[in-house]
Amino acid sequence: MLLTNRTKNLYQEVILDHNKNPRNFRVIEHPSHTAKGHNPLCGDKLDVYLVLDENQTVQDVSFVGDGCAISKASASIMTTIVKDKHIDEVRTIFRGFHDMATGKIEADEDPKLRRLRAFSGVRDLPARVKCATLAWHTLDAALKDEEIITTE
Ligand code: ZN
Repeated sequence: MLLTNRTKNLYQEVILDHNKNPRNFRVIEHPSHTAKGHNPLCGDKLDVYLVLDENQTVQDVSFVGDGCAISKASASIMTTIVKDKHIDEVRTIFRGFHDMATGKIEADEDPKLRRLRAFSGVRDLPARVKCATLAWHTLDAALKDEEIITTE
């Protein structure tokens, strides 16, 4: 899929908006899962917080940290996408997003990735793939209990 200039501008606007006004940008005091993500190539650092309910559905999700516009916008959009979803679905979306960001699939192949298409341009910028996927890798690590915090 070739991106028209109009689409490119729209995608850029989405990223700039989420970078400027990140959604769910806060610490969750008693998360069921949390992990820290670091992308040394760019200097992006993110902490992701999750609260899963007894059905393994994301009840609450947030992030804090600092990084480039792409990493922050990606984290912000991720929190809005995974809220109220079962972790199996979250993992499926993450795999699809990863395939899209690395150019393995086209952005319009999977309707689940509709809201992530703003990042389809990173496939041409290999260093940016890590920025775009950092929040998702961090979320994945949290779900794997690679750094679990138990609620009191
Ligand atoms: Zn970055």
